[in-house]
Amino acid sequence: MRAVASTERALELTRECGFDLAGVAPLHSPRDAEHWRRWIERGRHAGMDWLERDLERVADPRTWAPRGRSLLVVGLGHSRPAVQLPDGASIARYAAGRDYHNVMRRRLRKLRRLLQQEGLIGKPSWSYVSSDSVPLLERSHAAEAGLGFSSKAANLLHPSFGPWFFLGEVIVDVELEPTPAPPAGSCGTCRACLDACPTGAIVAPGEVDARLCLSYHNIESEHAVPRELRAGLGQWAFGCDVCSQVCPWGAKAPDLSERFGLHPSLAEHGVVRWLELADEAEVSSVFAGAALQRPRRAGLARNAAIVLGNREGHEADQVLLRALNFDPEPLVREAAGWALARTRSHSAAVRAALEAAYARESDPAARAELRRSLDGEL
Ligand code: SF4
Ligand code: SF4
Repeated sequence: MRAVASTERALELTRECGFDLAGVAPLHSPRDAEHWRRWIERGRHAGMDWLERDLERVADPRTWAPRGRSLLVVGLGHSRPAVQLPDGASIARYAAGRDYHNVMRRRLRKLRRLLQQEGLIGKPSWSYVSSDSVPLLERSHAAEAGLGFSSKAANLLHPSFGPWFFLGEVIVDVELEPTPAPPAGSCGTCRACLDACPTGAIVAPGEVDARLCLSYHNIESEHAVPRELRAGLGQWAFGCDVCSQVCPWGAKAPDLSERFGLHPSLAEHGVVRWLELADEAEVSSVFAGAALQRPRRAGLARNAAIVLGNREGHEADQVLLRALNFDPEPLVREAAGWALARTRSHSAAVRAALEAAYARESDPAARAELRRSLDGEL
């Protein structure tokens, strides 16, 4: 079959599998590989060491997929109104419903099966399907396949979905005809995301420094959130959508809330519940099927404490005191201490609890943080 006809049929099959966007690019070194390399060399990937380890594989996917010839890149919209817990805490929209990895993987596997059934890719089967699961600079490949254009917020924008779509890929062992250039568009003179980012993490157009990015700190990082960024977290309990929310390209994206739904635990509970999670088993049970499990219990409890520290009111005092005194993780104990110091600095009882927690804290980093909270560095 000619490559052009194969591509047309492959794109039809992506629609049959429920994807909104699709395109084809040759499998080669992504055009942003050098930019990526410099980003990592400057340390802007923060503690995401796996990105450093994967650098050479990302720079040329043919090193780990030697039989690959083309990338079939797909996009699935997830635009929806902003998501808040009953207590007003905010959740990144992408994580509010069913875990997109599962949805994408199911559809990508179906797509691969159909491609094989129609003889469009090699037999016996040889291909990779990926939804954040193989070392690919997927936004760069997706831009080349025509799914959007690179933005100043370092994401990909599409005229219909703005920044609100997931990417997935099938690497195939046949040469499909590349799809034409992406839909016209650019950031132009806009700089809304750079101005709106609460922590100045978009340090230059197209360049996010993960060390400053809230989404890194409250999803990926297993460590304490730097003190100077905590106020910027505001009510973001998981992720941060500020740079996407202000983007004019996403303003007219369709409401696709039904596609991923709203996870029941988010409809039922505020973040105080996150501080009460006993162990990983309870996290798996409460957030079954949701992407929210990624920071694990300690990360979720840490996030909850910081959100509560950024809020007026007394309703969380008891749960914060319990976390300060009894949580098994140092990063939760000190975050609870910070929250109490920030909201109750005038309370003699809270001061006494913090002094006692400081005196018995055995973890050096948590102890240093508690000292800073006691000293009013809030
Ligand atoms: S996710 Fe939030 S903190 Fe990170 S760059 Fe965007 S606005 Fe800034
Ligand atoms: S907010 Fe403006 S500058 Fe930022 S990504 Fe959107 S269009 Fe580009």
